[in-house]
Amino acid sequence: MTDKNRTEQKIIAGVIGTPIKHSRSPLMHNHWLRAHGLKGTYAAIEVAPDELEPRLAALAAEGLRGVNVTIPHKEAVFALATERDQAAQKIGAVNTVIFRKSGGFLGINTDAPGFAASLQAAAAPWAGGPAMVLGAGGAARGVVYGLIEAGVREIRIVNRTLERAEALARDMGGLGASLIPLPWDKISEQMIDLALLVNATSLGLAGGRPLDLDVTLLAPGALVTDIVYAPLETDLLRAAKRAGHETVDGLGMLIHQARFAFEAWFGILPEANAGLRAALEKDLQK
Ligand code: NAP
Repeated sequence: MTDKNRTEQKIIAGVIGTPIKHSRSPLMHNHWLRAHGLKGTYAAIEVAPDELEPRLAALAAEGLRGVNVTIPHKEAVFALATERDQAAQKIGAVNTVIFRKSGGFLGINTDAPGFAASLQAAAAPWAGGPAMVLGAGGAARGVVYGLIEAGVREIRIVNRTLERAEALARDMGGLGASLIPLPWDKISEQMIDLALLVNATSLGLAGGRPLDLDVTLLAPGALVTDIVYAPLETDLLRAAKRAGHETVDGLGMLIHQARFAFEAWFGILPEANAGLRAALEKDLQK
């Protein structure tokens, strides 16, 4: 099927947000729709905050299976959802909507299982913990929930604004993990016995402020991961590799959260194959 034929097809799913034109979700989902011979296309749909509710209703009426949700709508869509899964409930944000034929919609969060799935191929025994998560924003909430679900029993949550780390630890309490909020200046002393270090802040993004950490303080064998994927190899990952650590980049989380959303709409868990990853890497270089 040519791309022209595909763009003339009915939209059956999409991603809503603003700005939306740089979203990589259409690349992934259209790849899988093609691979599984499903008719229809996945579109990037610009939606401003003041039109969120009517646009969601209109997309449901047009017959879409559902939509992904990105900046700045994840919390607002959480509030509008008529049903939510436990991940969304705990995280307080929805990244995937499944429209119900009877009206209303289920809001789920696939960032959390997506993050945990991105670590599954790592050889390092990260799930035994302790883990340290840097950040307490929306993405960090998904990361912490994903780690708890994956069985990590001690998670140190470090954030510039300590109150947000405390709130995160409170909100995710009662799930069987010990969650320890810490101020930024405790990173070095709390790093030495980690099995896993995660950057879930926006530090290290291309053109932004760097994340300045001394990774040589980490114990040998600690896994280091960064959910920032532009650049793909962040300064943190480069330094960790140089110090002999196994690393996982942020593209895995992006791909796996999309796989779980696709499964929720179409009942097929698509593959995260090397071809798709290569296409995404090429797209990131644009
Ligand atoms: P967010 O809600 O705005 O949170 C930003 C986080 O970064 C907060 O913890 C913030 O700390 C911290 N931060 C920002 N500037 C800082 C500084 N100068 N020093 C120390 N900490 C600083 O953003 P988000 O939605 O969580 O996203 C975070 C990053 O994750 C983004 O780069 C995003 O691209 C990436 N992400 C990746 C994926 C993926 O699939 N790989 C998915 C989602 C997000 P304060 O609380 O103190 O402000």
